[in-house]
Amino acid sequence: MQPRATSKVSRWDQHGRAYVVRLLRAGVRRQLVCDTCGWRARARFLPWLKAAEHLERTHQATVNPAGRP
Ligand SMILES: [Zn+2]
Repeated sequence: MQPRATSKVSRWDQHGRAYVVRLLRAGVRRQLVCDTCGWRARARFLPWLKAAEHLERTHQATVNPAGRP
């Protein structure tokens, strides 16, 4: 099955740069892929939380453009 982007998590850093982690789904398997640095991780549970954690730790991107905490 071809992986396809089903969802993504966006964060901005203090300089207004945008970072995106995409959530790919292939069957029951889900994988997180960072567009900026190529980081990948399997995500069984709470993929959005894990994506946000990567963006914060690696890119210091903590601002949610959607405005949610
Ligand atoms: Zn990254």
